[in-house]
Amino acid sequence: MSNHQMVDYLWLDGKVIPWSEATVHVTTVSVSASTAVFEGIRAYWNPGQEQLYVFRLDEHMRRFANSMKLVWMEPKHSSDELAAAALDLLRTNSVREDFYIRAVAFNSGSGFFAKGFQHETRILIETVPIASHLGANESMACCVSSWTRIADNVMPPRVKCGSNYANNRRALKEAQMHGYDNAIMLNSQGKVTETTVSCVFMIRDGTPITSPVTSGILESITRATLIELFRERLGKPVIERDIDRTELYIADELFCCGTGQEITAITSVDGFPVGGEVGPITKEIEALYHSVVRGEHADYAEWRSLVW
Ligand code: PMP
Repeated sequence: MSNHQMVDYLWLDGKVIPWSEATVHVTTVSVSASTAVFEGIRAYWNPGQEQLYVFRLDEHMRRFANSMKLVWMEPKHSSDELAAAALDLLRTNSVREDFYIRAVAFNSGSGFFAKGFQHETRILIETVPIASHLGANESMACCVSSWTRIADNVMPPRVKCGSNYANNRRALKEAQMHGYDNAIMLNSQGKVTETTVSCVFMIRDGTPITSPVTSGILESITRATLIELFRERLGKPVIERDIDRTELYIADELFCCGTGQEITAITSVDGFPVGGEVGPITKEIEALYHSVVRGEHADYAEWRSLVW
């Protein structure tokens, strides 16, 4: 087994096959030109209930289909088939712990400008163990990146496309080189978009505020989840509006959210302390989110796909 291989099987183009046999030729467009689109999905193990819950699988597969549409891919499998395949694969890999599901769609065949973009769309689903840090009280120090977030009329951030992440990686590496954990990127109007892997929420005077989906962000499923939870369970409707850079410095609380990132407090931006520590509203929404994703909350069952 290589370092990367932690399970025996993955699902490729309709079949569960041994992990080691899932190879592609280096000349494929996805390798040579990074046209692949992808999804990252989490599954949470509930030991008391002996159940594995995949969080918002259907929504992830729908976004996956939208990403494919926006890069002219024509998948042979519907979103429902892909969701069912992911659940089957988790069963085949006997998963009984917190796991991550990655779905990747890529063009086969060589030639970036092949006539009419007539490449076959291949789809990979793989599963890897991943720990959750929900409840661990973690926080990050962020900077505002000197790199501008890509725009919808350049490289649409709405598409979860591998090549978009060259922009995020540039911002992340710059942040790390300067001793920060992550970066918050601004759009070409100077408004806050997102971190390199997650969306941003700011609390001002008790009100949660987040950048609109037209600001240059990925249409985050966690963001949409929190907007609903804030409104329905905490009685705090979220305001979706542009956020200025300097508002970050004077916010009462800041946190970021995403499937991989879950909910993580941002306790300083560009060296300005924000909130001092993980704030009370951040803690409250994180605890609620944790109970929902792990199936401790009786409601929101429609967001959880059962593996066992
Ligand atoms: N923005 C970016 C750039 C991301 O990579 C992610 C992670 N997918 C998110 C936001 C959060 O999206 P989601 O909540 O759907 O995981």
